[in-house]
Amino acid sequence: QAKREGKNRYARFSKDMHNELYEKLRMETGIRYGLLNREFVVHYQPKVKIATRRTSSLEALVRWQKAGKMISPGAFIPIAEESNLIDEICLFVLQETCAFYTTMQQQGVAVPVSVNISPRQFHNLDFVDIVEDLIRRFQIDPRYLEFEITETTAMHDVAYTLKIMHRLRDLGIYFSIDDFGTGYSSLGSLSKMPVNTLKIDKQFIDDLETNSGIISTIIAISQQMRLNVVAEGVETEEQLLRLDAMGCHEVQGYYFSRPMPSNSILEYLLAERNRPAQ
Ligand code: C2E
Ligand code: MG
Ligand code: MG
Ligand code: MG
Repeated sequence: QAKREGKNRYARFSKDMHNELYEKLRMETGIRYGLLNREFVVHYQPKVKIATRRTSSLEALVRWQKAGKMISPGAFIPIAEESNLIDEICLFVLQETCAFYTTMQQQGVAVPVSVNISPRQFHNLDFVDIVEDLIRRFQIDPRYLEFEITETTAMHDVAYTLKIMHRLRDLGIYFSIDDFGTGYSSLGSLSKMPVNTLKIDKQFIDDLETNSGIISTIIAISQQMRLNVVAEGVETEEQLLRLDAMGCHEVQGYYFSRPMPSNSILEYLLAERNRPAQ
């Protein structure tokens, strides 16, 4: 009896493993094909200054349009991250962002754009050279290019992070720490990093009252270290006013805009430029 059960359990385990592996392979093949067939697109979401209600910068967010369906990065970035496919996705997003920067500049509405850099990409030894090459090729004013790395990535190997960040900072690139509050930061390490902005993770904003202590602490840290602070995932006027009262001056979220394709965001920026200041 016990023996048979053990055997069944093994069979089930092996079948799950097989399915998982199969799914992973299928996804990888799909991504490779999708990159060749231009199924990936970059959307942009504004970050907004509360005081002026104007866009201060954008965040580039990758999307996969596969057979009419929109696949969110949460579903494919982790798989791409397990292979060198993440390098190709990241290069694609950087190139698209640089090209879009040129368009914004031609239209007279250029704002900085931040790109999410995954842990594997951040640890790619060619990364700095790739970025340097892009800046030169697209003639980007590097102050208009920002990188977001998560708190966990930044704190994983502080010595390495400091080295790479400083090399990129020397090129003129700015840094944000993404999903701040979800990892474990050493404030001593953070203060040594050439970081400009802390982004408060959406999970805290979702339940502002319960997390008001944490949010206030992050805002206090940012003030102490003279960093910008951006609240992620702001969906309501109520959240906006509450954050403003707490001393957070910049927000990102559906309240102002969802991430939009480049042509829509360009229209958004042009409309904003023609709108009188409040
Ligand atoms: P993230 O960098 O923290 O991005 C914020 C996520 O919150 C985005 O999801 C955005 O669409 C979503 N969001 C913004 N405002 C609101 C809101 O008001 N309500 C709600 N419900 N959601 C909001 P998205 O685009 O699905 O991206 C998820 C994550 O995938 C990102 O988190 C980032 O870690 C990763 N990611 C996205 N694009 C890229 C990329 O180009 N490269 C890499 N390496 N990672 C990316
Ligand atoms: Mg981000
Ligand atoms: Mg985030
Ligand atoms: Mg997040």
